[in-house]
Amino acid sequence: MCLTLVLLALLVLLLLAVVPKTRSSQNPFSEDVKRPPAPLVTDKEARKKVLKQGVTPSHTTFAMHALLVDHYLQGAFYPRGGSSEIAFHTIPVIQRAGGAVLTRATVQSILLDSAGKACGVSVKKGQELVKIYCPVVISSAGLFNTYEHLLPESVRCLPGVKQQLGMVRPGLGMFSVFICLRGTKEDLGLQSTNYYVYFDTDMDKAMERYVSMPREKAPEHIPLLFIASPSSKDPTWEERFPDRSTLIALLPMAFEWFEEWQEEPQGKRSTGYETLKNSFVEASMSVIMKLFPQLEGKVESVTGGSPLTNQFFLASPRGATYGADHDLGRLHPHVMASMRAKSPIPNLYLTGQDIFTCGLMGALQGALLCSSAILKRNLYSDLKVLGSRVQAQRKKK
Ligand SMILES: Cc1cc2nc3c(=O)[nH]c(=O)nc-3n(C[C@H](O)[C@H](O)[C@H](O)COP(=O)(O)OP(=O)(O)OC[C@H]3O[C@@H](n4cnc5c(N)ncnc54)[C@H](O)[C@@H]3O)c2cc1C
Repeated sequence: MCLTLVLLALLVLLLLAVVPKTRSSQNPFSEDVKRPPAPLVTDKEARKKVLKQGVTPSHTTFAMHALLVDHYLQGAFYPRGGSSEIAFHTIPVIQRAGGAVLTRATVQSILLDSAGKACGVSVKKGQELVKIYCPVVISSAGLFNTYEHLLPESVRCLPGVKQQLGMVRPGLGMFSVFICLRGTKEDLGLQSTNYYVYFDTDMDKAMERYVSMPREKAPEHIPLLFIASPSSKDPTWEERFPDRSTLIALLPMAFEWFEEWQEEPQGKRSTGYETLKNSFVEASMSVIMKLFPQLEGKVESVTGGSPLTNQFFLASPRGATYGADHDLGRLHPHVMASMRAKSPIPNLYLTGQDIFTCGLMGALQGALLCSSAILKRNLYSDLKVLGSRVQAQRKKK
């Protein structure tokens, strides 16, 4: 998912150009042509649990837990064709609206005018820095990246910015184990479901003990493994990759265990880093092979991804899986009310998981809130109208 700040800035520039200069703008969902060309989700049978919050029981709220359980009870979903389909279907919508999508275009900083208002972004193009000016900048890079790295230093200490940063901290990092297998899901008996494997009944204690352990001992005390087979959830998989399947395992990880290697180049880190990574991969694989003994002899390759991998590929501060931590502090009504799309810097808006909650659904809600704030229009009402129209059209057919 590499929709960068630049793309969003360009999109908003365009949206603003077509929005009448009244207090409220027109309904952006009024034209069906602006909707993605095809539904992204699989049919009901294939819907499975995909949303997780990454916080232990005593640190989360009842409301958050209820939201997740409800999500699961309704049946979660998996994008047909994998998560890259989300970008694939979103890009034409941006382009149709006159926007442009740039990849490998790291935003170096947010530009401010003499009045301290956001007026564009400075983007890295190879070794060059290119300045792009626009009336509104939207950052989907997360609260920490935006405030701590993209704003000029003088603005980082504005009281509004400091106050928001003081309310949250990066969430838990995860270690990923990517497993390629020979055989179809039927051959291997893989289900399109998620497995949460707990090794203790007291998750709070087990997690506390685990993260305070020396890193060499930690692989023997993994408190929880999340295991899923993405290939089994995707109805298009078999025609694209015949006779192959995948499994992924995620396990909680302390960033500190890997921190000493963060300055080393990705893919060329010292042997100590690889040894530590391998110890978590091996510990996970031994559990997986016990749970799925039928996979013996079918494993083609296994790759581990540490919090530093997340940091490199996802630009996630301290390798956090779900952005700012979803702990009790973050979910306090005062904090929730303070984390708004409208930032303390005029013309700078935040979107994505850090202004609502994590996961695809959380990030999408963040985008709706952000767009509503910019367009000064309740897009939830517009969506409701669109939903009714789509339902009515379906009934007619
Ligand atoms: C391993 C893993 C598994 C997950 N599984 C699920 C799941 O099953 N279901 C689910 O709902 N959620 C899942 N999530 C969480 C989900 O991916 C996030 O909650 C969601 O992607 C957040 O969306 P976002 O747009 O807010 O941020 P992101 O998706 O993190 O997007 C932010 C983007 O900003 C870019 N960026 C940062 N800095 C800059 C810069 N300076 N210049 C340009 N671009 C920049 C980043 O490269 C990134 O592409 C998972 C996350 C991980 C890491």
